[in-house]
Amino acid sequence: MQAFQLVEWQKPAELREVPVPEPGPGQILIKVGGAGACHSDLHIMEAPAPPKPSKLPFTLGHENAGWVEKLGPGTTGFAPGDSVIVYGPWGCGTCKNCRMGKENYCENAGGAARGGGLGGYDGGMAPYLLVPSTRFLVPLGTLDPREAAPLTDAALTSYHAVKRSLHLLGAGSTAVLLGVGGLGQMAIQVLRALSAATTIIAVDTAADKLAIAKRMGADEGLLSGHEAVTRIKDITRGQGADLVLDMVGVNPTLQMAAQVAKVLGHVTVVGLGGGALPVNFFSPPHECSVASTYWGFITELMEVVRLAQAGKIQMLVEHFPLERTGEAYHLLHDGKIQGRAVITPNG
Ligand SMILES: [Zn+2]
Ligand SMILES: [Zn+2]
Repeated sequence: MQAFQLVEWQKPAELREVPVPEPGPGQILIKVGGAGACHSDLHIMEAPAPPKPSKLPFTLGHENAGWVEKLGPGTTGFAPGDSVIVYGPWGCGTCKNCRMGKENYCENAGGAARGGGLGGYDGGMAPYLLVPSTRFLVPLGTLDPREAAPLTDAALTSYHAVKRSLHLLGAGSTAVLLGVGGLGQMAIQVLRALSAATTIIAVDTAADKLAIAKRMGADEGLLSGHEAVTRIKDITRGQGADLVLDMVGVNPTLQMAAQVAKVLGHVTVVGLGGGALPVNFFSPPHECSVASTYWGFITELMEVVRLAQAGKIQMLVEHFPLERTGEAYHLLHDGKIQGRAVITPNG
């Protein structure tokens, strides 16, 4: 089969011929319906080798859904043809965090587990994906894997970031989203679904993304800049926002996050832009906490699937055949994908 593989660090990935994997004991082979193209893949293709480099080549694609093709010996709980979504961070399965379904924070993976498509394991940008255990599978029910794939990263990452801060979002509260590309659009819908009484303010450099954000439930769409800071202060009667989700994480967005968060508020850095946020007595505001998040829990993926089944969240999806994967990443790189580019290796 053809697979879209990273062959060398800091080089674009390419299509290569590889064997179809054979599932071993406890493993499961998935026929890929959709594999989302994520911004972090661009990072992987552009960044130098990580401190602990994984073996090369490996197949990209860490946002996968499809159908069960073949069970390895002794594998139970699923049957061929079942439509499933694949939980992405593959932890050890035995540490305390893994036992709680928090495999993204596996204690034996340095606090941020990788999975298929992120090094060490092949991902879903190929007709077939080998998943090491059925504990990474969540049934999709009636959802189409080609449309549902982004639920396991774009939606799960947003859902986790919102859910952990729900206690801040009472009636009359305000949440600010910095950056409303694929992840931000999903975060708006999750906020709408979980906290109906929160005022949602979307901020972006692109007017067309703000228009989409408002369609998805944002109350206000503001172009990035000083005027946006002033407007947020006005809307919150000078107090600032209870929750700021920085979906970008570069210096200008982090700086803005500190400016628009309120005293006793919270800033979550979701985007892996790698910027720095200076912390001193004067900024961020007093007792405003800051945390970064990485992906989400298996139990939360189950909740995300329920939300999608209820029609409460929907991803704008643009489909590409496997041969056009390189092009999809170019469009993503140039900001020309409105929601999520999803590769469909089986048509
Ligand atoms: Zn991703
Ligand atoms: Zn673990």
